[in-house]
Amino acid sequence: MSEHDKIRELLALAAADALTSAEEKQVAEHVRSCIACSNELGAWRPIASELRRLPTPQPSSGLVQATLARAAAKHTEQAEHDWNRRVMIVVVVFAWLLTIASWPVFQVVSGHFGSLLEPQFSHTQFSHTWISFAAFTALGWLAGGVAAVMLAVRQRGERRLA
Ligand SMILES: [Zn+2]
Repeated sequence: MSEHDKIRELLALAAADALTSAEEKQVAEHVRSCIACSNELGAWRPIASELRRLPTPQPSSGLVQATLARAAAKHTEQAEHDWNRRVMIVVVVFAWLLTIASWPVFQVVSGHFGSLLEPQFSHTQFSHTWISFAAFTALGWLAGGVAAVMLAVRQRGERRLA
C-alpha cells in the first residue's frame, strides 16, 4: 500500500480530529505535497464539523466516537423495543390470570345475591353475571393497556433525559 493510499484512508478521521498525534503529523506532511489528498481533506472538514454540530449526545467530537454513539443509540432502541414487548406479554398474561381467577368469584357473588333477589329467574341471573364479568374483564384489560402505555412513555422520557 502506497503512502498516498494509506493517508487517503485517514483523511476523514483527520478532519474529525480523531487521529493520534503521530498519524496527524503524517497526514499533515503528506497533504503539503499531495494536492489530491489536500482537496479531499478540505472536502471532509465541513462534513466533520456538521457531524459535530448534530444535536445528538456525543461523548466526544471524534468521528469514531460519533459512530459509536449512533450504534449505542440503535442498541438502546432495540433494548427498549424488547422491553416493551416483554411488558406487553406480562400485561396479557396478567389479564388472563385475572380473568380466570375472577370468574369463580363472580359466579359465587352474583349467584349468592341473584338467588336472594330473584331465585326464580336463574337464566336472567346468569346473563347478569356474564355482563358484570365482561365489564370487569374489559376494565382489567383497559387498566393493563393504560399501565403499559404509561410505562413506555415514562421510559422514553427517562431516555431523553439521559
Ligand atoms: Zn495523497
